[in-house]
Amino acid sequence: MSHTAELIAVGTELLLGNIANTNAQVLSQSLSSLGVNVFWHTVVGDNPRRLREALDIARRRADILITTGGLGPTYDDLTKQTICETFGKPLILHPDILKDIRAFYETALHVPMPENNTQQAELPEGCAVFDNPVGTAPGCAFEAGGVHVLMLPGPPHEMETMLRRHVEPYLRELSHEVIVSQDIMTFGMGESSVDELLHEKMAHMANPTLATYAKPSEVRLRATAKAVTEEEARAMLAPVREMVCGTLGDIVYGVDVAGLAECCCAQLLRRNMTLATAESCTGGLVAEKMTAIPGVSQVYRGGVVSYWTSVKADVLHVPQSILDAWGPVSQECARAMAEGVRGITGADLGVSVTGAAGPDPDERGVPVGIVYVGLATPEGTFCRPLDLGRRRRDRIQGLAANHAFDVVRRYLQGLPVERL
Ligand code: ATP
Ligand code: MG
Repeated sequence: MSHTAELIAVGTELLLGNIANTNAQVLSQSLSSLGVNVFWHTVVGDNPRRLREALDIARRRADILITTGGLGPTYDDLTKQTICETFGKPLILHPDILKDIRAFYETALHVPMPENNTQQAELPEGCAVFDNPVGTAPGCAFEAGGVHVLMLPGPPHEMETMLRRHVEPYLRELSHEVIVSQDIMTFGMGESSVDELLHEKMAHMANPTLATYAKPSEVRLRATAKAVTEEEARAMLAPVREMVCGTLGDIVYGVDVAGLAECCCAQLLRRNMTLATAESCTGGLVAEKMTAIPGVSQVYRGGVVSYWTSVKADVLHVPQSILDAWGPVSQECARAMAEGVRGITGADLGVSVTGAAGPDPDERGVPVGIVYVGLATPEGTFCRPLDLGRRRRDRIQGLAANHAFDVVRRYLQGLPVERL
């Protein structure tokens, strides 16, 4: 039987917009991987009447209620008392927990325990206690009338520590299903085109399911299967992956990889090759994405941000004749930049980006969105011409950087690089 959980975050700060409900995000991610449905997130202020209303609604539509916040020692921390009243549970003082809280104050915080902390050692009768090694308020769980109620502290690191140590094992006991997801990553086709190709098949899928998520220039397809064991769920995902890869072809650049830059890095490592970058309109974005990856120094030699034409000529050795005849935003210049940076760094591959990111056309009148990505390799030099349209400047830059990675990954995967 699958379970349905409702998350109830308690805190007026959340309602006022002072803080974001990050606890709900962390909990939801965990619950979905455990196979627990989450249909509702509720946020309620530090108000016992409204919390009680929220609990009364939640217990009718979910069989696992998880609250965060309001477990502390202050007058506005009312979660435990309100839950106990709602579910008819008396609060019982646990002397051993009180001893732990007192010890936490004295040994970790070096102050005596304020007396109102005593109430943190009071827990609902018959509950499972979730100790809190990084704070004072313990959490707990009990079952009443077929509904499991779990109370967790508000501070995110306390909540998360308790989630991993206690909540996940507790829920695993209840649930007989696991959910496994796989991300199929694509680049080069818009979300609506991907959707059009897969819609028919997606519409009839119940388990596994397939959903598309679009980032500005990439589409991620998430396949999710529910089964009794992880192996079974993984086996169910294999045909979906094959169907998607078969339908979309070589725009799929990887499965369960973080992004195009990570894909390039992995391919370069596998082939034992190095890369260097020469960037104009992306201003170092390709280099930045590359260097964000730990361990990339094995494959990434460095880059040049050659924004001025004189830097293209003086540092990258782009011939003046090319700059005079074709201008800095041209196939010829992109090729020469890639060859230049490959030459000066000694890398196996040099990739370059030059284009007009806008909002105005470049001095020579090249329209906004015209971008050239060059790739110099041991087998010769390639160029991918692009018309990215009149997008916002940062969008053009982000997209252009991704095309640079796509050109590299396609080359390394033995695919044509110049056209998509
Ligand atoms: P404490 O013992 O610190 O009082 P508590 O369990 O009573 O803990 P709250 O008082 O409700 O929890 O919240 C403590 C702090 O935790 C808040 O000020 C906020 O910074 C953070 N917090 C609370 N709820 C959330 C949430 N849902 N998402 C993210 N942060 C939260
Ligand atoms: Mg509090």
